[in-house]
Amino acid sequence: MPQTLSLLAPMYNEAEVIEPFFNEVLPILESLPLEWEIVCVNDGSKDRTLELLWQWHEREPRIKVINLSRNFGKERALTAALDFAAGDAVIPIDADLQDPPDLIPRMVELWQQGFDVVNAVRKSRDCDSPLKQTTARLFYRVINRISDVDIPRDVGDYRLLSRRVCEVLRSMRETHRFMKGLFSWVGFPATSLYFERKPRAAGTTKWNYWRLWNLALEGITSFSTVPLKIASYIGFIAAVLGLLYAIYLVARTLAFGDPVKGYPSLMTAVLFFGGVQLLFIGVIGEYIARIQDEVKGRPIYVIESIRGICRSTGTPDLHTERRRATIYPD
Ligand code: UDP
Ligand code: MG
Repeated sequence: MPQTLSLLAPMYNEAEVIEPFFNEVLPILESLPLEWEIVCVNDGSKDRTLELLWQWHEREPRIKVINLSRNFGKERALTAALDFAAGDAVIPIDADLQDPPDLIPRMVELWQQGFDVVNAVRKSRDCDSPLKQTTARLFYRVINRISDVDIPRDVGDYRLLSRRVCEVLRSMRETHRFMKGLFSWVGFPATSLYFERKPRAAGTTKWNYWRLWNLALEGITSFSTVPLKIASYIGFIAAVLGLLYAIYLVARTLAFGDPVKGYPSLMTAVLFFGGVQLLFIGVIGEYIARIQDEVKGRPIYVIESIRGICRSTGTPDLHTERRRATIYPD
């Protein structure tokens, strides 16, 4: 039995790049000594993406389509693809050809040599703006300092994951999904490939700084509780300093009497600690909000329709989610 490779392609308003994407990817997949499938997820696109995907599925049944009920965001769209992938290895790939498909044969080779994870590391970020380069560098430095898992820099979602990595990932059902972190959390033998990341083939990026900031918050709150500890330590230091200051005040009053002074220092302390307290209530709030979301236990995504993938027996309702997928025999 030849092994199967699943490409996972989340797509949100990608009508312009679908044609070049398949034209580039299909010959590469055909050249591999493997069975293959492409699991495309339409993440609530507002353009012709879904229609085009269905056309491609008619032409090439190994292109499979999951149509989500609305836009759930890339991380969840990718989770849907992962849940339904039948492959012995999967490769999440961006549809905009920023992840060069010609790396796939080399990734497969390394996987067949026994690596469970093959990371595609981008050599440079020259095509990003200086601000994005700086913020990305800062983010990786911070998150690797404060979290237990080592999240490699300059590796996107483009990487090969073996079946056992996928099995572990499928068992992680958290609603707040920082995929890069989850991938690294799993572990297993990993290796890296280097590539030059190109600008988008067509269309526009779906990320802006607000979305990136939220992604960074997601990463930090999902993989570290250090911000909560910082709150405790600052509180502790403030309490110690406050106590020392109180002792000094009592001593001074006893020695020199009590002329009414100290309004500026009082105001400074009140305002400063008022601010610090609000800040850390906010930090705690970020964690509580995430606890609330997890406790609700809502499905990670909702599927409206699928093509090329069938539900296997005994699994939960198709319209919520499924952990394992069976594919219609061709
Ligand atoms: N994407 C998605 N849902 C979203 C946003 C993006 O499925 O809500 C997909 C998008 O179609 C693309 C991939 O995620 O295939 C990467 O998006 P994009 O190229 O906009 O991100 P960038 O490369 O700029 O980081
Ligand atoms: Mg892109």
